[in-house]
Amino acid sequence: LHVPSCCSLPRVLALANQKGGVGKTTTAINLGTALAAIGERVLIIDLDPQGNASTGLGIDRKSRRVSTYDVMTATATLQAAALQTAVPGLAVAPSTLDLLGVELEIAAHRDRAQRLSAAIKALPPDEDGRPAYSYVLIDCPPSLNLLTINALTAADAVLVPLQCEFFALEGLSQLLRTVEQVRSALNPRLTIHGVVLTMFDPRNNLSGQVVADVRQFMGSKVYETIIPRNVRVSEAPSHGKPVLLYDLKCAGAQAYLKLASEIIQREKTLRAA
Ligand code: ADP
Ligand code: MG
Repeated sequence: LHVPSCCSLPRVLALANQKGGVGKTTTAINLGTALAAIGERVLIIDLDPQGNASTGLGIDRKSRRVSTYDVMTATATLQAAALQTAVPGLAVAPSTLDLLGVELEIAAHRDRAQRLSAAIKALPPDEDGRPAYSYVLIDCPPSLNLLTINALTAADAVLVPLQCEFFALEGLSQLLRTVEQVRSALNPRLTIHGVVLTMFDPRNNLSGQVVADVRQFMGSKVYETIIPRNVRVSEAPSHGKPVLLYDLKCAGAQAYLKLASEIIQREKTLRAA
């Protein structure tokens, strides 16, 4: 079977925002699950030393024998780190606290910003010669450090979660500047895929105002789908499950399914262009 080279790489999306607590990890887990549920083959790369994406997907610390630390220090392949999750079609390359020290360890190497990109390119195809994964989602740490730079260098596009709160836009210009710098110095194909508004609370007047402000600032880059604040979403990780497995009917799970189909739709439009 001949596979054209344009189609032999996965689509790589980095979930980035240097603010903590805006929904990067929650979106990585649940968007990844939703994409897998509609037939995509997904790999989540946990690039945060806290390892919340790994924990939220039910990967206990003991089973993280090969982690993204080993991948970043080029002592293991990404394929060796990838673990199957309880969700069919969804794997995760877990992280450990070792990742905290990786920046210093690789700082002196010329390829320090390209480590993750090289690891993704080295993913072997499956038996049919297709890329093993159709989507790779990178869960970034809450910082614009070398780990995030690696994610942006490896990515085709950035997905920015923004929490619907008063300071939502604060820090966004800095993130956009970093994306611009990585595009010009390291990764010319990098684009902003979109901005996803998270933890929307309809009872809070401010939430609505934030949505309006962000749409005014970022225009059509903002996804139509808004993720509501939903207690089921925040409970799910303590059960080691994506919310789609924990409570498929809840508003949060349904919103992530909608976001996945909106993203697939955007991808189709991009490819047709
Ligand atoms: P980040 O990865 O950007 O630091 P998280 O995804 O870990 O952010 O989310 C921060 C906190 O908010 C977590 O406790 C998470 O469970 C909670 N949370 C995220 N999204 C929602 C949501 N839609 N509804 C309720 N709680 C949420
Ligand atoms: Mg996180």
